[in-house]
Amino acid sequence: MIKVGVFGASGRVGRLLIEDLKTTQEMSLSSVYVRNPLDFAIDPSVLVTSDMKSFLNNCDIVIDFSLPEACEMLLEESINTPKPLVIGTTGLNTHQLNLLKQASEIMPVLYATNMSMGVALLNKLVYQASAALEDFDIEIVEMHHRHKKDAPSGTALTLSESAAQARGLDLNKVRVSGRDGNIGERSKDEIAVMALRGGDIVGRHTVGFYNDGEFIELNHTATSRNTFSKGALRAGKWLADKEPSLYNISDCLEL
Ligand code: NAD
Repeated sequence: MIKVGVFGASGRVGRLLIEDLKTTQEMSLSSVYVRNPLDFAIDPSVLVTSDMKSFLNNCDIVIDFSLPEACEMLLEESINTPKPLVIGTTGLNTHQLNLLKQASEIMPVLYATNMSMGVALLNKLVYQASAALEDFDIEIVEMHHRHKKDAPSGTALTLSESAAQARGLDLNKVRVSGRDGNIGERSKDEIAVMALRGGDIVGRHTVGFYNDGEFIELNHTATSRNTFSKGALRAGKWLADKEPSLYNISDCLEL
């Protein structure tokens, strides 16, 4: 039985992880890290703590869906108490991404801006389409619920990176968040990412390839957050016995 620690346990995805673990074979919830343990009601067999060391010592693997500052704290502490880490938090800055890379030198770390199988496949398709349709303009539109903190989404950035890599484009040139009033002529080596926020949309990403006379759009819609929690648990089971390295969701799905 793999003992799972959930970091960000009171959040939207964290709560689903706890529910899904009740019916997941070979895995059980052993610890949760929350800021206010007294406010968190759960089965007494689970350690509820705001002490990072006890949290890490009480589990075999960690699944994180929190916020960038909290994820940074987890990465710093895990360097002293290494555990396989599944990181789902998005919006990490350069320093936090470097910490993640450092951590992956001493423990297995799977970092995925989207844990769904559909988006993992979309990512592959975007790479193929970008390479094959080299004359086509690429634009990405993502839509999420009104509470989402980061924009553009981590998934949209990952998709733009795949599209850029397939064409050998400089990543710094292609990341644009939306467009302002007077954009002039559209440059060929530009990929624009537009973020929309509203209502309870779980997540929708459209990658469009546009040319004169035709266009093709690849679209993925998440209709339930369970797709992320179940994907993260599948990733955790896969990661538990891996060597230290930085993995992504395609490694786990063997796509
Ligand atoms: P949420 O706001 O509902 O939950 C965030 C959780 O982090 C809360 O429980 C909050 O208490 C906790 N937290 C914040 N600061 C903390 C701190 N300093 N110490 C301890 N806990 C702290 O958000 P959510 O919708 O559950 O999403 C969480 C993250 O996962 C976001 O970054 C989101 O973009 C990302 N996300 C990733 C995927 C994926 O598939 N990778 C899918 C959905 C959401």
